[in-house]
Amino acid sequence: MLQLNNVSAGYGAINVLEDVDLSVEEGEVVTIVGGNGAGKTTTLRTISGLVTPNRGEIRFEGQNIAGMASHDIVDLGITMIPEARQLFPDMTVRENLQMGAYRRGAQEGLKQRLEEVVAMFPRIGERLDQRAESLSGGEQQMVAIGRGMMARPRLLMFDEPSLGLAPIIVAQVFEVIERIARTGTTVLIVEQNVYQTLKAADRGYVLENGRVTMADTADALLGNDHVRRAYLGI
Ligand code: ATP
Repeated sequence: MLQLNNVSAGYGAINVLEDVDLSVEEGEVVTIVGGNGAGKTTTLRTISGLVTPNRGEIRFEGQNIAGMASHDIVDLGITMIPEARQLFPDMTVRENLQMGAYRRGAQEGLKQRLEEVVAMFPRIGERLDQRAESLSGGEQQMVAIGRGMMARPRLLMFDEPSLGLAPIIVAQVFEVIERIARTGTTVLIVEQNVYQTLKAADRGYVLENGRVTMADTADALLGNDHVRRAYLGI
């Protein structure tokens, strides 16, 4: 479904990513793990069209999307849920959710999509008229995920969905991600919470200093000595 071939990208003349090769098959849950500053967010921003690659190819369902405008990439079916959620704090939950569907035929089908999202997150449904900033961190993350789902993406990308959340809420967020994956949406997650994300994923990549240093099944990475020492503290 998605393929990055030899992608180098960064900010200005400085490459953060160097020769990144990565693929996601339809229906998979794939994760990119790595420490601070490894280039995980930059990878998602590059796929989303927010950062233009300096070199390489990004193919989504056969089409090269490298250099395409980010709104056109959303229209193709790729949505990113940003780090730290980035809701509109003064807007209601309902308005935040509606923002997720701003591209697709504006009002057409909006009501039905809102109903689908509310069915997925009943707690959010009870808070549709509340201002987003009045919600707990966990609830805000659910709204951010719901907003991403409003675009009916085929590939949903999560940037550190567990950031700043209590462990019990993190577990709920990963349950939701697994539920989304079971409905047929393909998922790509970048995380510093390596254990939890590998538990949820089919396959994973380790990104270090902007380069892919390992690629394997999630189970193999969980059992790998380097991953255990460097990321799991074992
Ligand atoms: P973190 O988990 O800390 O967000 P990350 O793996 O997601 O880490 P990136 O956010 O992709 O890493 O950052 C990789 C490198 O790119 C860092 O050295 C960072 O300072 C740099 N960088 C990120 N955003 C910008 C920007 N807008 N302009 C210049 N440099 C940037």
